[in-house]
Amino acid sequence: MRLGKTNLEVNKIGFGALPIQRRNMEDSIEILHRAYESGIDFYDTARFYTDSEEKLGRAFEDVRENIYLASKTAAETPEDFWSDLETALKELRTDYLDLYQHHNISFCPKEGDELAKAMAEAKEEGLIRHIGITTHKITFAHEAIESGLYETLQYPFSYLSGEEELKLVEKCKSLDVGFIAMKAMGGGLLKNSKAAYAFMNQFDNVLPIWGIQHMSELEEFLSYPCDLTLDGDLKAIIEKDKSELGDDFCRGCGYCMPCPEDINISMCARMSLWIRRFPTEPYLDEKTQQIMKKTEDCIECYACVDNCPYELEIPRLLKENYEDYKNVLSGKTVI
Ligand code: SF4
Ligand code: SF4
Repeated sequence: MRLGKTNLEVNKIGFGALPIQRRNMEDSIEILHRAYESGIDFYDTARFYTDSEEKLGRAFEDVRENIYLASKTAAETPEDFWSDLETALKELRTDYLDLYQHHNISFCPKEGDELAKAMAEAKEEGLIRHIGITTHKITFAHEAIESGLYETLQYPFSYLSGEEELKLVEKCKSLDVGFIAMKAMGGGLLKNSKAAYAFMNQFDNVLPIWGIQHMSELEEFLSYPCDLTLDGDLKAIIEKDKSELGDDFCRGCGYCMPCPEDINISMCARMSLWIRRFPTEPYLDEKTQQIMKKTEDCIECYACVDNCPYELEIPRLLKENYEDYKNVLSGKTVI
C-alpha cells in the first residue's frame, strides 16, 4: 500500500515494536529476522520504548536500505528533540529515519513553532525523510491533519472503533495523510487476530502496526492471505465483541498514570474484562489481589480522568472492577 503523501510503498502488515521491550535481545532479534524474511518492511518504534530502538538497530543494521524505520519523540522542546533524534539514530544504527513522529505530546506543533522548525530542519538535513504525529485524542488528530504539516497520523483504530474514527480515516484519505493504526487489537482485549486483520483490509489507506511480542503472534498474522476479507463468521465475531465491550472500557494506554496513590489504573480498570476474556486463574493470585486492593486508596482526585483520552470515569470503573473481582474471588460470581 501507499502510505499517504509520504509515497512510501509498504507491505500492509506493519510491525509494532513496543512489546519486544519485554523480550530479551536474542529472542527479539530472532522475531525481527523472521518478520523481515517474511516481507514485513515497516517497523514502528519510539524513544519511549526503552530498548526497542536498539533491538531494531541490531537486527537490521545490514539490511537497513530494504526496510522503513519509524520512530517517535515525546520531546516538547527543540533541545530534547535533537537529543532524542541523536539517540534514536545511534540506537537504530542508521543515519536516517523514514518517518519521525511527535509522540502524544500535549500540543500540536504548527508552522512556525519551535518544534515544527526542528522537525523541518531534521528533514532538510536528511536525518528524517517524513514527518508524522501520534495521538489518542480525536480533536487533536483533526487539528494535526488539518495543519498540513504531517504526512502521517498514528491513531488507535480497531474493529471496535466507532463512527468518529471511521470519519477520521476518510478525512486522512481525502487529505492524503497516511493513517497508521495503533492498538488494532484493542490494547490487548481483542482475541481474534483474523477478524482484526480482515477488518483492516477494508481500508486501503490504513497501515496497521501489529504489536508483536511472541513468534507465535507473528506467525498468526503471517498465516493470513493478504487479501483476506470479512466473511459472515468474522463479522459475527466483531459484532459480539462490540456488544460485549461497548465504549466504556479502558484501552490500557496508561496515559492516566502515574496515580498519586500508586494505583495501577490500566490493570485495575480492566480486570473484569481480563478475567472473562482470558484464563481467570492467573489473575487471582496474591500479587494481583494486592494490586486490586490498592484501588481502595483512590481519593477521587480525578487527576487521571483529565489525562484519559477516552474521558472514562476512572474512579467509578475502579470501584466496579474491584467489586466484581472480590465477588469472583469469593465465588459469589462464577465465570
Ligand atoms: S482519581 Fe483515584 S485513581 Fe485517579 S489519580 Fe486520583 S487517586 Fe488515582
Ligand atoms: S483509564 Fe483511560 S488513560 Fe487510563 S489506561 Fe485506561 S484508557 Fe488509558
